[in-house]
Amino acid sequence: MSAAARLEDLHKNYVLKSETVRALRGVSFEVPEGDYVAIMGPSGSGKSTLLNLLGCLDRPSEGRLFLGDDDISQMNDNQLSYTRASRIGFVFQSYNLIQQLTVVENIEVPLYYQGTLSKEDRARCAEWADLVGLGDRLGHRPAQLSGGQQQRVAIARSLVNDPYFILADEPTGNLDTATTTEILRLFENLNDMGKTIIMVTHEDEVSVHAKRVIRLRDGLVQSDVLNGDDRVKLNTSGGPIDLFAKAEKSTAP
Ligand code: ADP
Repeated sequence: MSAAARLEDLHKNYVLKSETVRALRGVSFEVPEGDYVAIMGPSGSGKSTLLNLLGCLDRPSEGRLFLGDDDISQMNDNQLSYTRASRIGFVFQSYNLIQQLTVVENIEVPLYYQGTLSKEDRARCAEWADLVGLGDRLGHRPAQLSGGQQQRVAIARSLVNDPYFILADEPTGNLDTATTTEILRLFENLNDMGKTIIMVTHEDEVSVHAKRVIRLRDGLVQSDVLNGDDRVKLNTSGGPIDLFAKAEKSTAP
């Protein structure tokens, strides 16, 4: 089985007039399918640069980056855009929902890149809404939802195109503590279903829920550690867990 992502000696240089900034200086690691990785590091360590590469928004200067069997480093702009739209599940701090669209229409957005939507596609999107706990809000617009509910929409949207992984950039950065816990529980449920998650965060309280923490420093991997028995599991009671038990039987792709 191929890894969800494999980074081989990845370099990224930004060439400015007066200097070349070496934002990544030889980063190598593998993210197996089903992993849940938190990427951390101080400001300027290369997190955003790495996120841009994993999200197919940019190409490395040197080294190779595989998503599944696809070699991102060899792709042209069109291939990169297509892969970004069709195989990466983005979740942002600010949700990035389209205000004019309803909950279910927002979840459908990634599928439009693949052509017109079938009835089955529509039904699947409504099911994803149900699975993230928004089955009774399908016709609501983002302004009518709380921050946590909006992030649930974004998470459902990230899953509809069967991504290599969910790529989450500070996904709880705008949320209060209780809602952060809810969203982290949702990620944990999804990971238990086999979804791969790569999350950039600067909060230890968030990274303790991941299976593994990779810390960057000065464009290099400083440490790559399994949370192991220290991992804080939230998947203990209540919330969307029953929904996910149902999901595993009916719709888990
Ligand atoms: P982080 O997300 O950890 O704060 P970044 O990836 O944004 O780190 O930045 C890593 C280094 O690359 C920093 O020195 C930053 O100033 C530089 N950098 C990032 N983006 C650019 C860019 N577009 N042009 C030039 N330098 C950049």
